[in-house]
Amino acid sequence: MMILGTGPAGLTAAIYAARANLNPVVVEGNEPGGQLTLTTEVENFPGFPDGIMGPELMESMRKQAEKFGATFVRGWVSSVDLSQRPFQVVVDEQTTYVSETLIVSTGASAKMLGIPGESDLLGRGVSTCATCDGFFFRNKPIVVVGGGDSAMEEATFLTKFASEVTIVHRRNELRASKVMQDRARNNPKIKWVLNVTPVSVQSESGKVSGLEVRDNETGETRVIPTEGVFVAIGHQPNTGFLNGQVKLDAVGYIQTIGTTTATSVEGVFACGDVMDSHYRQAITAAGSGCKAAMDVEKFLEGSAFQDWAQLAETLA
Ligand code: NAP
Repeated sequence: MMILGTGPAGLTAAIYAARANLNPVVVEGNEPGGQLTLTTEVENFPGFPDGIMGPELMESMRKQAEKFGATFVRGWVSSVDLSQRPFQVVVDEQTTYVSETLIVSTGASAKMLGIPGESDLLGRGVSTCATCDGFFFRNKPIVVVGGGDSAMEEATFLTKFASEVTIVHRRNELRASKVMQDRARNNPKIKWVLNVTPVSVQSESGKVSGLEVRDNETGETRVIPTEGVFVAIGHQPNTGFLNGQVKLDAVGYIQTIGTTTATSVEGVFACGDVMDSHYRQAITAAGSGCKAAMDVEKFLEGSAFQDWAQLAETLA
């Protein structure tokens, strides 16, 4: 069996599958360990009362999977053929693997604004990870773009470093939960620029110098001076390589059947952020990885999912 992706979901699936003697082959993409490797301290993963660094947690999970016999392949899954079993998985456009079952745990990636200057200045003032890069903006003004929980969380976190944090959002109303909004609103270091559209990221000497925004009411543009632009506008599930062969929801998350990890394709399972737009936590991803491995085991031994096609009809 194969597992695609090595975040908490994929690695937990690998631990369970290896212990069940399913000999999992695990493909690590361009970001081995997933999003947790982009964070610093993880304080809410049960079992670590003093917290644990994200990369360390992921390295431990990987070691645990290896200890039980999981094999790791480094590479990018360029395409899959799910039209018949065994499935074909092409890594780096050159090596083809075959597998009777697949667990897709390819996670989600940060969405970008797609405005001029943004991608060129990534890592030179533009960031998608406050916990990774906040430290570099000590006593400097920072802009956070977005109106959801992520933006509130990142802005609040960044006030530890920044001289001030400006939240830039495209509407007057925030999408964030009340508790997260209140926390940000009560923080004296947070300023608000609402109902504007980001137009471009400005630079001087190759580094970010400001964010140009257009007022949605007046149409006027202006530049908010800043050395750091943190983009926190949500995530996009990494499902492009599936090329429409598995049913996705409107945003692109993999749909799963009922409370299981089974997808619309018999033999293909999904777990973690690639199928969960709601909870998106390391622990919930790990939990669903466990479910996926158990589902594969039951499927292969023929004690569950015999009526897969019928079950899949319940998907939209
Ligand atoms: P989100 O809820 O989808 O919010 C994305 C925000 O970015 C929205 O305010 C959206 O504006 C804005 N946006 C999207 N595309 C944009 C664009 N092209 N240009 C400008 N603005 C854009 O994403 P999220 O904040 O990452 O949260 C995702 C999920 O994780 C949510 O369920 C959230 O509750 C959860 N989460 C929870 C916590 C926590 O509880 N600790 C922390 C982080 C995330 P509109 O509002 O106008 O659409």
